[in-house]
Amino acid sequence: MIVVQDLPDPAGARAAIDAGASGRMLLAGLNADGCAEAIELLLEMGLSAWSLSSVLLGVVAQRTVRRLCPECRQPVEFPKDLAQILSCQDDARLVACAPAGCPSCGHTGYSGRLAIFALLAIDQGIRRMLRNGSREDTAQALARQCLGAYRRSALDLLRDGVVSPEEVLRALR
Ligand SMILES: [Zn+2]
Repeated sequence: MIVVQDLPDPAGARAAIDAGASGRMLLAGLNADGCAEAIELLLEMGLSAWSLSSVLLGVVAQRTVRRLCPECRQPVEFPKDLAQILSCQDDARLVACAPAGCPSCGHTGYSGRLAIFALLAIDQGIRRMLRNGSREDTAQALARQCLGAYRRSALDLLRDGVVSPEEVLRALR
């Protein structure tokens, strides 16, 4: 397995594709806003959609949020606007937690950070789209899937009471 912290340039990206094509697992970091933008960046580096569709297994994107202090977090009503954004309006069991503040978190209500993840696994549908679809349609479809994955991840964290609705709204904006 090869790990590249940051794919530097088109030559580096092509070397990554070659490594993938030769059967080696390669993990590479990219500075992009999300899964769709990461794929768009690789295409802009001059990689062909065909070779990408052949070797890319998945894209993971993350947005970091502040973690609620476990000592002082307070249960609050789940905000309706957030329930709508996360498509979970009908879930009656939903409770969220909000920051309060105590000596152990310096009265900020937060302690440390964690990430909301979006995992985009490149399946047959996405492969077909990369090979045959227009670049614009593909980017839109990938962005939709990425957003859906972000929302599921955010909802899991909210259910666990480790992030506040405000942090999720800020991260998903
Ligand atoms: Zn606290």
